[in-house]
Order: sequence, then structure tokens, then C-alpha cells
Amino acid sequence: MSHSHLIHAIETRPAHPSIFFFCCTHGNEVAGHQALDQLFEHLYDMKEHINANLYAVLGNLKAYQERTRYLDKDLNRIWTRENLLIEQADNDPVHEISELQSIYQLITDKARDKRGELYFIDLHTTSSSSKPFIVMNDSLKNIQFTASLGMSVVIGVERFIKGSMLDFFNSRGYVSFAFEGGRHDDRDAVYAIEDLCLKVLIKTQAISKKSTERMNNTTSLNPSKFYEIRYRHKLEAQDEFHMINVYRNFQPIRKGEKLALHNQQIIKSPADYTIFMPLYQDQGEDGFFFIKPITYFRLKIISILRKSSLQERLIPRTNVVQSDRNTLIIYNPGIKRYQLKLLHLLGFRKRKNINGKKSIYKRNERYPQPVEDWMS
Ligand SMILES: [Zn+2]
Repeated sequence: MSHSHLIHAIETRPAHPSIFFFCCTHGNEVAGHQALDQLFEHLYDMKEHINANLYAVLGNLKAYQERTRYLDKDLNRIWTRENLLIEQADNDPVHEISELQSIYQLITDKARDKRGELYFIDLHTTSSSSKPFIVMNDSLKNIQFTASLGMSVVIGVERFIKGSMLDFFNSRGYVSFAFEGGRHDDRDAVYAIEDLCLKVLIKTQAISKKSTERMNNTTSLNPSKFYEIRYRHKLEAQDEFHMINVYRNFQPIRKGEKLALHNQQIIKSPADYTIFMPLYQDQGEDGFFFIKPITYFRLKIISILRKSSLQERLIPRTNVVQSDRNTLIIYNPGIKRYQLKLLHLLGFRKRKNINGKKSIYKRNERYPQPVEDWMS
């Protein structure tokens, strides 16, 4: 199956960076496919001016043919080592596991001999209309890369969503994020996605600014605006839920504002926040998220701290055991508030609570791992 996942490729030299663009990870989100077709049409014409290995990968082939999000399982929730290694029986296999394994085969085949940086960009669209945005794990590498893409960037998704492709590659030390271009059937989503891809090409120096002018394009790099996810309003399968008002994605909300009706209970905002991904369709696991803008000052501190050789010394030692560079075990009664804030700045986030006795904190600051180590 793997040959047809690859819809476009331009290969230069192994020492150049390699960029993997993914579309149709969700089969009904076809704008990414159209955008990549348009983009590569230009790129093939200017091949001699390209300094990168570029791949366009179509994710869920069968779901794409049937124009549905997925068949058995969401392809963007199953990116785990276990699923990549599982040997499926011939009768009744989970469809998306087969897709996952053949995509992985393709990526490792292409990445194995490369010596430059690798980038993984997953292109999506949303069911309701929204301005375009990036969502990604909180890692310094991701923050630095996206800081000049002129986008709204939401970080901290790893706390709430497990098994995404972006998490898989970010935790192997690479820049990896998802881009939501707008509403599924909105023509502007295609342009937004193509524009983002161009910015990635400029940022990685895959193409020069001059070559984009040759493409008659006015894309340029600008500062991004960062947000952090603070809260998810989780729903259970049987729950009755609807939003009280119509909110735009990224709309600021006030403390005490009535937001939603959840099993006959009114949900009010506990503080001033920005609302993110409010649910207006019948199905979904998340009612809405609260996000908060991250100030430029805080971003500066994050970048200074995480690059500093002193950061290890800032980790509290009372009730804390560091099991490796990126993992802390914090025993109850836990640590002070200011220490927790410091850990957040260093990139540590709570991932697990064990019997209320201890919590596991992890962060995403990794060195890039060679392909041979991705499964270890
Ligand atoms: Zn999607």
C-alpha cells in the first residue's frame, strides 16, 4: 500500500533538511490534499532552486476514498510504539493500524539515509469555521520554529490528546505540529494551508524568498501569537451538551460568563480566558478548551531557561525524583506553587497521577533520535 501514500516527492541531497507534509490523516479533510497538489505543481517547475527533500504524504487512503474521518479508529490517536509493532491477524484487522504501519514504513524508508533536520507537518481542517492555527506540544524546538510563521499557535496539547502523530515525532526530537487551515469545505482553507507550507519552506531555507517571488507569492515571515491550553471540558458518551451562545474560536470570555449547558447544569467561566474549539456538532469528547495568551516576556524566559546549563539546578529536590532528563516523579504532599510554575517554564507537564500518591511529569525537550532508535 505504501507507494500510494506518497503523493508528491522532490529529493535533493541527504545533507539537506527533509520536510514531510501530511494530508488526509482524517479522510474527509481534503483541503490539505488540494493545497499540496497546488504547491508541488509550482515546486516541480523550480526544482533546481530547492534545497530540501520534500514529501507529501496522504494519510488515511481508504477513509479519503470514502470521504470519511476514519473507518475503525482515528488515525491521529493511534501513533504508539505498540500499534506500530503489532502483527494484525488477517481476519478482522483494525483498518487504521494497517494504514499507520504502511505510513511509518514510508517515512522510515525516506528518513533513514538523511543527515539534515527532519520536519513533520500535519495538515487538517475543522468542522466549524475558524481562523487558521497551529497546535503542538510544548517544546522549545517547536516554539522557536513556529515563532516567525505569523500564526496563532496553541501549545500544551500533549496533556489532553494521546497517540497523535505530532506527539510521536516531537517526542523523538523533531519539529512536529498540526495545522488547522479553516472549515473543511472552505476554499480559503486551501489557500491558508498552501501559505503555511510556503512559510515552512522559507523558514527551513528549502526555498529562498526570491523563489517565492518568482511564484508570484507575497508570503513572508511574521511573529506568531502563542497560547497555552489551561483546561479541557471533557464529555462522556451519554452526556447532553450544548454551548449557550455562538462563540468564535479564540474569542475572549469573561469570568462568570455562562458558556454551556452540560447535563442540565450551567457551566460558567471561572476566570477570564480565551475559548478554544467550542463544540457545535453532535459528537465529540471535548466540550471546549480554555486557553490563555503567552506573553512575549514569558516566551523569552522559557527560551533562556531551557537553553541554560543551570536548569537542572532549578528542579526542586524535596519529594522529587528525577528518573531521566525529561521525567520527574513528584511524591505527595508535592511541591510549592512557585516551584510548579518554574517546572512549567522548564517544560515539565503532569502526565499521570498514580493512586493520588505520586505524579509523573514529563517534558518534550529531546535531541533528535536517528531512525533506528525511534522504536526503542
Ligand atoms: Zn483533522
